[in-house]
Amino acid sequence: MNDTESLESLRNEALAAIGAAVDLKELEAARVKYLGRKSALLAVLREVGQLEPEKRAVVGKRANEVKKDVGDALDHREGDLAARAREAASLADTFDLTLPGERFRTGHVHPLASTAEEIVQIFRSMGFEVADGPEIETEYHNFEALNMPAFHPARDMQDTFFVGDDLLLRTHTSNVQIRAMKTRKPPLSVLAPGRVYRRDSDITHSPMFHQIEGFMVDERITLGHLKSVLSSFVRAIFGKARKVRFRPSYFPFVEPGAEMDVECVMCDGKGCRVCKSSGWLEILGAGMIHPKVLAHVGYDSEKYTGFAFGMGIERVAMLRHRISDIRLFFENDVRFLEQF
Ligand SMILES: [Zn+2]
Repeated sequence: MNDTESLESLRNEALAAIGAAVDLKELEAARVKYLGRKSALLAVLREVGQLEPEKRAVVGKRANEVKKDVGDALDHREGDLAARAREAASLADTFDLTLPGERFRTGHVHPLASTAEEIVQIFRSMGFEVADGPEIETEYHNFEALNMPAFHPARDMQDTFFVGDDLLLRTHTSNVQIRAMKTRKPPLSVLAPGRVYRRDSDITHSPMFHQIEGFMVDERITLGHLKSVLSSFVRAIFGKARKVRFRPSYFPFVEPGAEMDVECVMCDGKGCRVCKSSGWLEILGAGMIHPKVLAHVGYDSEKYTGFAFGMGIERVAMLRHRISDIRLFFENDVRFLEQF
């Protein structure tokens, strides 16, 4: 390796390798290979002294030029690669303002809560106030005072969770009616929304569910007031055009008792699976407060009369939103809840 032709091919090979180096590590390998102590070029320079004088001058000069070219190319490429690395690092740190933001998942009101609130607002607009009462209740407030003494067959209608000899999880919010009337004098119009408990579980029954109980007591309250208030309520929540009807029914704490139906919201009264082809949906139970209940709270039933009603919030929410399984309300599956 001591003629100028070999030096030319060595130079071309070195410059090509330097240009092809994609990072500083590959460039360092090229530096070692072409300018290192064991490189072919350094060997030429070491041996140049042994050449004939004329050749020595030519080869020595060219070898030094090649060494300088390769050194310059290495420095130049190093500068390029370092700049490119800095640019890549700064790009990785850059926040791209044009990227769409991450969507925040916001919660919202549960369909049962919004239905309860809607019901409460409708009755508030008719002058009802909202009252609260205990969920763990005595037998007296849950049954006895509502004209359901221990031997009364009506107690069989409700499978009850007992939590002690005299304590139970209330089976309806009617206990609030007793507690409110015991502490206050008429006129009274009260709404009592809350959780109630019964031993029942299938697609339309949950062992814990929500009820709204309401009642009105004053002098000369009649069945006409009951029909007027409840018809107004049903039309407010299911639409003005809906027909309603009352059917006689039995509840121990009212006399007479009635169930109120609304024209089926699924088929508009034509008859479907939900209304069992009747065209009507039962929506609430109601009646004139039984004189014995008034007597239990110390009201003079000759002077005062009143009506009471109760409905399941789940039932109203299921009909309003066309939900077929009550358990969906309590599973808290976001995919279900996000639809409301
Ligand atoms: Zn129907």
